Amino acid sequence: MSRATRTGSKNKLRAYLLANVGRVMESAELQKASGGVAEWGRRIRELRLQEGYHILTHNDRSNLKPGQYLLLSPEPVPAFERAIGKELRALVLDRNGYTCQMCGAVAGELHPYDPTRKTRLHIGHIVDKSMGGTDDPSYLRALCSICNEGAKNLTTDRPSTRKLLIQIRRATGADQIEVLRWLITKFPKDAADMLKKSDG
Ligand SMILES: [Zn+2]
Repeated sequence: MSRATRTGSKNKLRAYLLANVGRVMESAELQKASGGVAEWGRRIRELRLQEGYHILTHNDRSNLKPGQYLLLSPEPVPAFERAIGKELRALVLDRNGYTCQMCGAVAGELHPYDPTRKTRLHIGHIVDKSMGGTDDPSYLRALCSICNEGAKNLTTDRPSTRKLLIQIRRATGADQIEVLRWLITKFPKDAADMLKKSDG
C-alpha cells in the first residue's frame, strides 16, 4: 500500500471519528469510512498511539463490545501524557480520586466553571519541570482541561477577591504553598518588593 493511500485512509477515519465524538461506532462503518481499506484497524491504532486520540474499545470500557469504538473527545491527548503511559496515568487519576486537583471538578461530570463541557482530566506536573519537577508519579497530578490550560479559556466571571481568599484559607498548607509558588512565578518583582518591605 502506498504512503498516499495510507495517509488518505487515516485522514478519512480521523474526520469520521471527529464527526462522531461520543457515539459508539461499529467496525463495519469505520472500515467503510476509511474508504474500504483492509488495514483500517491499523490506522485506528495509529490515530490512538501516534496522534493521541482518545479512542476507546472493549479493552477500555466494559460496556463496549468487541468491534465497537468510541472517540471520547475531539482533543487529542498531549504528547507528554502519551509518553507517561496508560498505567501511570491510571495510577495518578486513581490516587487523585478522578478529581481535578485545582478546582475539584470530577471526571465525566459537567464542569463547575463551564457546564457546557464534561470534565476531562489530564495529567500535569505538581512542580513545573522548569522548577525542578520530574515525571516521577509523586510529581504528577490530575488536572481538568480548564485548569490545565491555565484557565485561558475560562469564559465565566472571575471569582471575587473575597471568595478567592476564602477558598485559599480553606485549602491545605501544601496547596497554599502551591498558590504562593504560582503567584511568585507570575509576579516575581512584586513578590521581591513585598519581601523587602516586610524585612523593614
Ligand atoms: Zn480544574
